[in-house]
Amino acid sequence: MKLRGLVLLFLVFVTIISFALNIIYLVGDGMSFNQLLLASILEGRVLTTMTLPYTGITTTYSADSWVTDSAPAGTALFGGYKTLNRAIGVLPNGTPMPSIFEIAKRTGYNVGLAVTCRVTHATPASVYGHVTNRDDEVTLAKQLAESGTVDVIFGGGWDMFVPTAQGGRRTDGLNLIELMKSKGYEYITTVEQLSTVQSSKVLGLFAKGHLDPFSSRPSSQPTLDVMTKKAIELLSKDGKPFMLMVEGSQIDWESHSNDFYGVWKEVVEFDNAVKVALEFAAKDGNTLVIVTGDHETGGLSLSKGGYTINVEQARKAKGTTQMFLSQFNIADKEKFIAGLKDWYGISITDAEYENLRKIPSNNLRRELARFVSEKVGFGWTTFDHTAAPVPVYAFGPGAYYFTGFMDNTDIPKIIMQLTKLSTISFPEIKSTGSGY
Ligand SMILES: [Zn+2]
Repeated sequence: MKLRGLVLLFLVFVTIISFALNIIYLVGDGMSFNQLLLASILEGRVLTTMTLPYTGITTTYSADSWVTDSAPAGTALFGGYKTLNRAIGVLPNGTPMPSIFEIAKRTGYNVGLAVTCRVTHATPASVYGHVTNRDDEVTLAKQLAESGTVDVIFGGGWDMFVPTAQGGRRTDGLNLIELMKSKGYEYITTVEQLSTVQSSKVLGLFAKGHLDPFSSRPSSQPTLDVMTKKAIELLSKDGKPFMLMVEGSQIDWESHSNDFYGVWKEVVEFDNAVKVALEFAAKDGNTLVIVTGDHETGGLSLSKGGYTINVEQARKAKGTTQMFLSQFNIADKEKFIAGLKDWYGISITDAEYENLRKIPSNNLRRELARFVSEKVGFGWTTFDHTAAPVPVYAFGPGAYYFTGFMDNTDIPKIIMQLTKLSTISFPEIKSTGSGY
């Protein structure tokens, strides 16, 4: 009897594991409707993200503001509760709470993340981390290394893992890369290693800090679709279910810079990763793909008035204003003006030049980007985030639950129901001045 009981228990376990739903959760940082449509307009095609069959809308507010930052936004998306701006994986009172990735890991899932920022930045850190201040990235790196929550880790930021004496930022003398190797992780740093790695536990850090922007990324750093494809391959090969978080990290930064060209290219990179996820899910049949943004950045508007966007002119742009300013010095008036004409098709007046000339050099990149955006017909209201709602798209088993007007905290709650991983009750946070 005892043996039969054990066998039965084993069979139930095997059944749960072999039929458990895979989750690929893709987040465009700072991406809302207008960032997507801007890229779609300039590409002249419907983006893959827009083809997912079920669509919803979510609010993004944090526990203390209608305008969230990425830390409580990631915590809401992966933890199912509201917390304070700047906090990751903790309640407003500082109590750590598990993310759905941590719960999945304990239940036998393989877990992965692939991003284009430091792997200790706010969104990826919300997968595994618990800190009251998102800037505490050296602590987040330690939590990532010691917890073992994430099996496959692709992104940038090795500087948070090694001591200052070895060129890193750690003042505690710890070398977390060595620690992770001793725990069975294979450590890789190059595109070549990424293409050949077979280990089911991998730490892939392809830059000292963030990866370069997609527009100017050297071939020595991987693109998000390649990292996503590899992560899916490694996470799925042992037959266990998996949960993967993919972030288009720099849509946010280009939006902070009000740079329409940068937003366009970053959204395309992200959308390429969505395509990889979708192709796997369509073939696999047991994978739920969710695509969303964590908040909107920039207050992007798809016209500056006059019932028009100069699409053809915008399409001919040659790069971000960061790239432009690395080649053109504003003090060299003639070359600068000719450069703007060549790169963006813009003719500027002497008065406009004089106005740009007055901008302090540390602000010139974004002020020039806003100026150029407006010339081609894109407007911006802020260099920060906004409270604008964001879309959520879904494909796969249970995708129809992601419809209608929701809150960002609803997404992980639905995932938990669909995966049947846990019956945890999600904390209800009384809002402290935001939300409803
Ligand atoms: Zn964000």
